[in-house]
Amino acid sequence: MSKLKCDFCGAQDSKANPVISGDNACICKSCVSAAFDIMSGKEPAENEQLPSSEVAEAAVEVKLHTPSELKALLDDYVVGQHRAKKVLSVAVYNHYKRIFRRDEIGEDTEINKSNVLLIGPTGSGKTLLAQTIARYLDVPLAIADATSLTEAGYVGDDVENVITRLLQSAEGDIKKAETGIIFIDEIDKIARMSENRSITRDVSGEGVQQAMLKIIEGSVVNVPPKGGRKHPGQDMIQVDTTNILFICGGAFDGLEDIIKRKKGNNVLGFNQTKSSKKDDDGLISLVEADDLVKYGLIQELIGRLHMIATLNEITEDDMVHILTEPKNALVKQYVKLFDMDNVTLKFEKGALLEIAKKAIERKTGARGLRSILEDIMLDIMFDLPNYKDKTITITKDVVSDKKEPKIA
Ligand code: ADP
Repeated sequence: MSKLKCDFCGAQDSKANPVISGDNACICKSCVSAAFDIMSGKEPAENEQLPSSEVAEAAVEVKLHTPSELKALLDDYVVGQHRAKKVLSVAVYNHYKRIFRRDEIGEDTEINKSNVLLIGPTGSGKTLLAQTIARYLDVPLAIADATSLTEAGYVGDDVENVITRLLQSAEGDIKKAETGIIFIDEIDKIARMSENRSITRDVSGEGVQQAMLKIIEGSVVNVPPKGGRKHPGQDMIQVDTTNILFICGGAFDGLEDIIKRKKGNNVLGFNQTKSSKKDDDGLISLVEADDLVKYGLIQELIGRLHMIATLNEITEDDMVHILTEPKNALVKQYVKLFDMDNVTLKFEKGALLEIAKKAIERKTGARGLRSILEDIMLDIMFDLPNYKDKTITITKDVVSDKKEPKIA
């Protein structure tokens, strides 16, 4: 039977915060108490806390999967990016091992959190990696864009609101949220200005990094369960972020130049011809903490992102693999949908390559594939039930010149 859930704040029934059900709605103990205070005219205390996670039930167990099991799972959904998948698998394994086998660690050793920084172009699979891991481990996931975060008091999302989102993803279950994953994208966009970098950079970047540091390194944060300042007066919930895994992502445009400059200095006097595009691709994988400091991330934040992985730009070949190979590959999904109407759907190799080319032109990585394909398939899908027992072949011309597909 599914657990009762409070219709007011989303909390799940627990010993610490039981939920009762009426004919049409459910309510938890904390909301009853908040409602009582409001009805009896009592001002809600500024920082009134719900039962802290300390007294809630024991930590939610997350099954420990070995790094190779995790990598195999990622292989099912994410094309290429093998090194990034390995780094993430090891980080996730260490992270949950550190939490759930704490008693084996002993007093004399301290194991650091293994938060991860993923560096790679847009649409190369950074978010997908985080989503896939979270789904497989069945842990809540919150995705936030660093550019929407602000220092407390400014217009925008407070950093604490990311925790609220995680709590909502955990359906109000504090313990579950406390072992969840937070993915913060576009972390490169909150780099602080330095003399080398663009003057247009957000000046509050450093403040946001400082605010993020607090939650990433692990602290007890008071979060508004409904988020933001939109619901003033709501009771705060305490969430301990010590065991939350943070994955940060960013494209870090221009980072190659910083690495190249450093590398150039090291090889001064040697034959310095202009490096080819291919060399530049490899350069990013040589990134070190000091390059990120030069880019504008603060030292303390980089120090908390222990594992750094780089992702490659998606090539035309990768695009074709992405269209056809992952378990939820778009082509597989269409073939299944057609099959359910007794229609056989085929894509010629040339058609797939043409779709890949179009996606590359859009410069949004593999993100563009879906809308390109949806555009091609719409009319065919519209008439699908009329094609029973037929075979429809998508040729190159269907993609490049909007010609009719072959129907036989
Ligand atoms: P970003 O690197 O900008 O976070 P995403 O992970 O959000 O990119 O990728 C956008 C979409 O593109 C994904 O939802 C997925 O459909 C597709 N995609 C991107 N990279 C890959 C990949 N390496 N393998 C499979 N699909 C991918």
